[in-house]
Amino acid sequence: MIETKQGEFESFATLRKAYVDTREGKTLGIEPYTRAHTFEPQKLHLSKLGACPRQQMYDILGTEKKRESASRQANDALMFTIGYFVHYLTYAALDWGGILESFEEPIEGLEEPWTGRYDAIINITGEQHLWSGKTTRPNAFKGNYRYSYPKLSHKLQEGGYLGYLDGVAGSVIEYIDRGGANSPLTYYVSSKHAVNPARLYMQRIEECYEALPELPDMRPRELTPHYRKRTNLNAYDLDYINEEYCWECGWCPYLYGRQDKKTKVWQIAGASPCKPDMRPPEKVGWHSGKIWHYKSDDVIGWAENQIASYFVEDEE
Ligand code: SF4
Repeated sequence: MIETKQGEFESFATLRKAYVDTREGKTLGIEPYTRAHTFEPQKLHLSKLGACPRQQMYDILGTEKKRESASRQANDALMFTIGYFVHYLTYAALDWGGILESFEEPIEGLEEPWTGRYDAIINITGEQHLWSGKTTRPNAFKGNYRYSYPKLSHKLQEGGYLGYLDGVAGSVIEYIDRGGANSPLTYYVSSKHAVNPARLYMQRIEECYEALPELPDMRPRELTPHYRKRTNLNAYDLDYINEEYCWECGWCPYLYGRQDKKTKVWQIAGASPCKPDMRPPEKVGWHSGKIWHYKSDDVIGWAENQIASYFVEDEE
C-alpha cells in the first residue's frame, strides 16, 4: 500500500488513475513536470550501466550509427514520447499524493566524464526512495521476458544513482506497458545490495574509456533458458536451453545488418563497425521425458543454477 495525503493506493497505477480522474474536464496538468531531454554522446551515462561496454565506446568515439528507415524512426520517436509522457504523468500524480520530493535532477558528485539524472525521489512511510519508470513493450510482459525482471542492467543503473544519493534507502523500479495491455510490475532494489555491483561496473567502463581508441571485446554468445507454459495454468517450466547471440546485438545501431525472419540468419554488411557472432541460436540443453541432455559439462553447471519452474499471478 502506498500512503499518500489523498488516501492509500495499492499501486502506482491506481494512484495515477485517481489523479487522472481528478482532472476530468481539465488538462492533465503535466506541463510543470516536463523536462528537456538531451543526450551527450561524449559522456559516460549512469543510465547505460549494464549496456554493452563496446557500444558505449562507439557512442563516445562518435561512430556512425546504422541508418534506420523513416517509419522506424517515426516509431522510435513515438515510443520515446509515450515514455516521457508516462514519466510526467507519474510525477504529477506523486505530487498530487504529497509524496514527491524531487524529480529529474542531475546526480551530484559524479566525476567527469560521468553524468546521470534520476527519475524521482519519493517519500513513503518517512523514508526516501527512488522511483524509476521503465516503459516497456507489451510483449515484454509475457513468458521468458517477464521472468527476467528486474533486469540486471536496471539494477546496476539504480545502484549507480543510489551510490550518490545519501539517505535514499532504495529504488522502486516500475515496468509499465506502454501499450496498456498489462498491469505494471514493480520491484524493489535496496541501496545495500545495489551500490557495490554498480561501482564495480563503473570501474570497468572507466577502464574501457581510458583504453580508447582500443575497443572492448564484443558481446559473447550466451546461454538462455526457455520456458514452456503449462496447459491451463500460469506456470512455466524450463523447456530447453539455447546458446544465442546477445539480444543487445540484435538491436545495436553499430551492427549494420538484418535478420531474415524465416531462416533467422543474419546478413552483416562489410562496413559494419561491429561484427559479433550472430549465428542462429543452437540448442545445447533439452529433455526427453524427465531425462535432460546437455551438450557440455559447462551447460550442466549453468543449468543447475536456473529456476526449473515459476508461477505468474493472474491479471484481475
Ligand atoms: S553489436 Fe553487440 S557487441 Fe557490438 S557494440 Fe553492439 S551490442 Fe556490443
